[in-house]
Amino acid sequence: MSDYQLLIGGRLVAGEARMDVINPATEEVIASCARASNPQLEAAVAAAKAAFPEWARASLDERKRVLTAIAAAIDANADALARLLTLEQGKPLSDASAEVRHTAAFFRYFATLELPVRVVTGKGGQRTEVHRRPLGVVAAIIPWNFPLLIIAFKVPAALLAGNTVVLKPAATTPLATLELARLIAQIVPPGVINVVADANDLGAALSSHPDVRKVSLTGSTATGRKVMGGAAQTLKRLTLELGGNDAGIVLDDVDPAAVASRIFDGAFQNNGQVCLALKRLYVHSSIYDRMCDELTAIAERTVVGDGMSSGTRLGPLQNRMQYERVATLVQDAAKHGATIKGGPIEGRGYFFRPTIVRDIDDGARLVDEEQFGPVLPVIRYSDDEDALRRANSSAYGLGGSVWSADPERAYALAARLEAGTVWINTHMGINPDVPFGGAKQSGVGVEFGLDGLLEYTQLQVITRPS
Ligand code: NAD
Repeated sequence: MSDYQLLIGGRLVAGEARMDVINPATEEVIASCARASNPQLEAAVAAAKAAFPEWARASLDERKRVLTAIAAAIDANADALARLLTLEQGKPLSDASAEVRHTAAFFRYFATLELPVRVVTGKGGQRTEVHRRPLGVVAAIIPWNFPLLIIAFKVPAALLAGNTVVLKPAATTPLATLELARLIAQIVPPGVINVVADANDLGAALSSHPDVRKVSLTGSTATGRKVMGGAAQTLKRLTLELGGNDAGIVLDDVDPAAVASRIFDGAFQNNGQVCLALKRLYVHSSIYDRMCDELTAIAERTVVGDGMSSGTRLGPLQNRMQYERVATLVQDAAKHGATIKGGPIEGRGYFFRPTIVRDIDDGARLVDEEQFGPVLPVIRYSDDEDALRRANSSAYGLGGSVWSADPERAYALAARLEAGTVWINTHMGINPDVPFGGAKQSGVGVEFGLDGLLEYTQLQVITRPS
């Protein structure tokens, strides 16, 4: 097993300091890992910069070979990586195993893409070609909810396009990433990927570094604003996948019993710690009570426990700060007269019952803010247009869903939701070949698919005699 070291310039190195990592199910220290200093961050960026010219010249086939080899290494170490994910993130082992599988699948997917060269004109004795060139050093900054999978949203696209990378995990979930660093040190040419772990103190220096040409951040909208500010000085390219407050609208023709488990999954997967989780549910008054009862019944029979125990469906929240934030939002809802079914679980570990909150309205913090936890506010409405207006009255615009027995009726409303991704009769679900990005303050740019790959490139137009 790894000593959890940094990867800088092809070498695994100890951090100038170390930091403890906590298991959110037990609140015990599970490991100590390397913590990078500012000079080590500088060394990582310098190594990525030095490796860039040769990597940019490598053939596409060579880069694809590296991505495929990383995918194979992830698969070959899937059990160990999944255990680390459960220990540091809290999610059940089966979910952690699925995350590891999907991480490898994203690396493999990007290895199937091509970088197209377009010929725009061929007239008058000239040929104009539109090439896609890499940018240089890419900073990939990762949150704590899907520590491995979100790496695979960024790193394979950046590498395939010919960029080099400095990767930084979240402070509370560095272990699986550092284990991955140990594996890829054998595969990737020195400096092409560098991994630095921090105690949430190096993000600003990395994302504003003059030698970083692009920042790809998945994190909160507040952090996205800071990254955008720090990028201004050298006009960096940005992909920002940020927060959300996804609304679902359940129309009056829906049978609550038929959809409740799908709605529950859309809201509570990964304990609601998903950017694209359903975070506000608007339900027509004619079916409101039955919908609340169905959701509450599912919540009450959901097994919450240590992710290492078989049978656990939801683990603890990932960290104390998030646990306290979610508890505060629920207390605030109670103060405003809402009915709460669920709530925090006393004792060790950041455990929280999946919680259904009814008799609540817009204006409550739980409805207006991103809870990012296992609590779903269910809001009554009586007019579809009013529900749509309320769903859209948010600074966020990541995802949304409309639920109806009549797909055409749902589609008409769905098309008017101000969100980057909209579903009918389901919520959540991503695919490596389907572009994904937020509207409004949920993000800038897209990930996945050819659209996502092209964000790691810049155009070069060459005109020459044909
Ligand atoms: P966060 O913004 O606190 O941290 C994300 C990462 O940014 C961490 O690695 C952190 O160390 C780093 N960071 C912190 N300050 C920084 C700075 N000034 N400059 C650069 N980097 C900095 O987010 P979190 O609490 O880890 O994750 C939860 C948030 O992420 C939620 O808002 C959630 O919706 C969002 N999220 C979005 C998506 C998406 O695809 N849109 C996916 C997952 C999570």
